[in-house]
Amino acid sequence: MKKITIAIDGFSSTGKSTLAKQLADWLDYIYVDTGAMYRAVTLFAMQQGFITDAKVDQGALENALKDISIDFKKNESTGMADVFLNGVNVEKQIRTLAVSGLVSPVAAISAVRTKLVSQQQKLGQNKGVVMDGRDIATVVFPEAELKIFLDASATTRAQRRYKELIDSGDKVSLEDVLKNVVERDYIDSTRKDSPLVKAKGAIAIDNSHMNLEDQFHVILQLAKDRIAGRI
Ligand code: C5P
Repeated sequence: MKKITIAIDGFSSTGKSTLAKQLADWLDYIYVDTGAMYRAVTLFAMQQGFITDAKVDQGALENALKDISIDFKKNESTGMADVFLNGVNVEKQIRTLAVSGLVSPVAAISAVRTKLVSQQQKLGQNKGVVMDGRDIATVVFPEAELKIFLDASATTRAQRRYKELIDSGDKVSLEDVLKNVVERDYIDSTRKDSPLVKAKGAIAIDNSHMNLEDQFHVILQLAKDRIAGRI
């Protein structure tokens, strides 16, 4: 059967990863969480002391980019792909609010994007991939057969992310999570390099009042139509 590329972009905490994982499982496609890659670079910068008072030492990070290697490896107990930074599993560390608070300025650095986009293009070069992020349909795979742009109200998104963080043991307040979501959206949408915008031909879906099951079935049908060449 013909394999396609599915690009899912959208604002923070719109459920892109959940949707992308559901689609990849159903279609038996590779799933790539590109946000995890930007988070891993941010964690690296934090560990190296390249970030002080929320300011990133861009030169130091750029010089050290060659020393960063990011891989995904399947976690046999969860069945999901975990992120490895220079051989160390950092899946849990990269999801904290501390990393979320610093990732957008790091992701705005062009040299960081060039490195990660090139890795992402290699991961998806044989199609049969569902990739989620902010620039997948605009920069990484502008030729993707199916492009989805997800949105939801900021409060709905903050509540979803708050629950995830609390469930994983991160002690955060809803107020701080909402602030982070709004700040990241602002930086991601206004940066010079690859800002978050709805790509030409992307289908916009606001899932504020949609359950996961309904959303999945709508988008799976779109994917099946693309695979069968009906659209
Ligand atoms: O998707 P997630 O919320 O984990 O992404 C974390 C951050 O990484 C985003 O807020 C954005 O700054 C950056 N990002 C990006 N381009 C992507 C994926 C994520 O700039 N393709």
